[in-house]
Parts: sequence; C-alpha cells; structure tokens
Amino acid sequence: MIPVTKPFLPPQEEYEAYLKGIWKRQWLTNMGPLASDLEMRLKEYLNVKHLLFLTNGTVALQMAIKALNLKGEIITTPFSFVATTSSIVWEGCTPVFVDIDSRTLNIDAALIENAITEKTTAILATHVYGNPCDVAAIENIAQKHNLKVIYDGAHAFGVQVNGRSIFEYGDISVCSLHATKLYHSIEGGLIFTNDANLLKRLAFIRNFGFNGPEAFAELGINGKNSEFHAAMGLVNLKYVDDIIQRRKELTEHYQRRLVAVKGSMPLWTKDVKNNYAYLPFVFHDESLMKKCMEVLQGHEIFGRRYFYPSLGTSLPYLPHTTMPVTDELARRVLCLPLYYDLSLEEIDLITRLILRVQNNQS
Ligand SMILES: *Cc1c(COP(=O)(O)O)cnc(C)c1O
Repeated sequence: MIPVTKPFLPPQEEYEAYLKGIWKRQWLTNMGPLASDLEMRLKEYLNVKHLLFLTNGTVALQMAIKALNLKGEIITTPFSFVATTSSIVWEGCTPVFVDIDSRTLNIDAALIENAITEKTTAILATHVYGNPCDVAAIENIAQKHNLKVIYDGAHAFGVQVNGRSIFEYGDISVCSLHATKLYHSIEGGLIFTNDANLLKRLAFIRNFGFNGPEAFAELGINGKNSEFHAAMGLVNLKYVDDIIQRRKELTEHYQRRLVAVKGSMPLWTKDVKNNYAYLPFVFHDESLMKKCMEVLQGHEIFGRRYFYPSLGTSLPYLPHTTMPVTDELARRVLCLPLYYDLSLEEIDLITRLILRVQNNQS
C-alpha cells in the first residue's frame, strides 16, 4: 500500500533517551524544560524573532484571532484545510471568501480589495502546499485599509522567501506540527509574531490567562503542549534537513516523470526556499484526474484530493459560496504520495499508471 503521506518516525532509541529524563524530572507538561528547549532550537533553526510551542495549529489560529481582538469580517481563502475557516467562525467572526489565483492556488491578492467592507478587520491567508502567498501585495492592502494579517503557514515549515522565514510575515503566522506534516511533534503547533507585546499576550492566552498563580491577565485557553510532544519535536529536528532534501529528490523525480501528463504543478513563488511538503498535480480535466485516482486505488496507491470540495461549498454552518477559479481547480487537483521513505521506483510505478490512463483515454 502506498498512502498519500506517512508520518516520519525517528529511531526509537533516540526518542526513548528523552523519556528517561522525563521520568527523572517528573515534569510532564506546562512549559517544561523540553518544551522550552524546543522553542529555543526552533527559533534558531527557523531564524525567527519569537515563537511559542502550542498544542496544535488549529488552536494557534484561534489564539491569533483572539489576541488581535478581531471582530466582524475576515477575508480568507476557500482553498485550504477546514481549520482555516472554522477557526474564524469559532471566534465569532464571519469568513468572507476571496477566489484564488489559478496559477499558484493561493488567495488572489488582486481580488482582495473588492471584498473589503466597513466590517472587515483582517486577512487570513494560507500558504497553500507551503507556496508563499503574495505577501508584499497583501501587506500593502492591509496597510492601506488598516487590516491585520494572519498567515496559516501549516504547510510552510522551513520555507523562506527572499532569504527570510515565511513566518516573519504578517502580524501573526502559525504552523502545524501534526504527524502528517513534514516536520512534526505528533500533535503540535507554533505561533509567530515580531511584536513583543503581542507575544506576551499570546503567552498568557496559552496558559488560561494566568499571570502568576493567583492572578489573570487575559481571557485564556489551554494551548500548552507536553514534554512528550516536545521530545518528538526535538528528535525530529535533527532529521528535518535530511527529510526536506529527500523530498526534493522525490519531487524532482516526479517532475521528470510527469512532463508528459496533461496538467501541471502550481506555479511556485520566485526566490523561495521550498520545503516540498506536498506533491499537488493539477490535471487538465476532472475526468482524467478521477480515472487516474481510481486506477491508482486499484493498485493500492492513494492520492488525496487536497482540498476538495472547496470550503465555500462544503461547510454546513456557512452559506454556500461558489467561486469560479477555486471550484474549478479543486475538482482537478490531486496530491500524489510523497513521504520520506517513498522510493523512486514507486514514483515510476505511480507515474506509469497515470500515463497509461491518459493514453487509453485519448
Ligand atoms: C493541518 C492544517 C491545519 C491544522 O493544524 P492542526 O495542527 O492539525 O490543528 C490548519 N491549516 C492547514 C492549512 C492545515 O493543513
């Protein structure tokens, strides 16, 4: 069986070595020494000013909206994982969808201004598949209209644009360290800001709003993560460069094999250090995509329709919103298997099957 993704597992002994220390200290959670160490090392690795290690990426998004005091309407993309939109609704705000750019599959910055009303307070955009949004254009719009910017960088661990971490853009950025992501701590999330005051607020919010044992500074939530999760993050950090390098080789092999297939990969933003988090392929038409998916499944190979159907047309708690570009592209994109121990031969098999389907169809 070849799944679309497989969590990376480091050598078991390396994880177990951390367990000894946890048993000795008997400090299991609540910003323990491993969690602090992970925060320090991630700051260094990603070269960012501030970050906090959190329970997951979804709570990170909710905390971002809360910490910025957002109300009213938040402009966002319908082409993302459900948590991008659900966190807006969960925080009592209204998501306003803006269509995506057909080449990058990120929110189309040229359409954002049209969607701004007097109720708009922020833009929440996703770096889809780790491909950076047009951060310069979004920053200009935000400044002109006095809006906050949050980036859902759940896919973007390690991505840099113009030599700078993608997480340094916007008022707040978040990342997910879920097991299915390229770098993970089993469950986990990160939140980033360059603003020291905002960081302080976020740190209170993460810990129920506590300011000392008997005082509160904020309305808070439990956004902390445990020593066990931090330990997995610490071990995996040793391997992340190797993981990204391997994924790069696999991606390049796919690209060589897929040139003859009718379709394309999304256009990548320029001057970017990519992390090869996903292998999205936009087929020329939906019927070819579906037939390929079906034939691959027959061989126990599982691609996944990330993201289908679009968030505008699938959430029972929101009005049905169609978006011409998103709805069309969501129908045609398939993410192909990509993970650390996938082999070049498996990619040959996958791409051979796809080519065979295409040749039989035409
Ligand atoms: C995975 C993901 C999330 C949620 O992260 P969790 O850590 O699973 O809560 C949010 N947004 C996007 C785009 C994701 O892919």
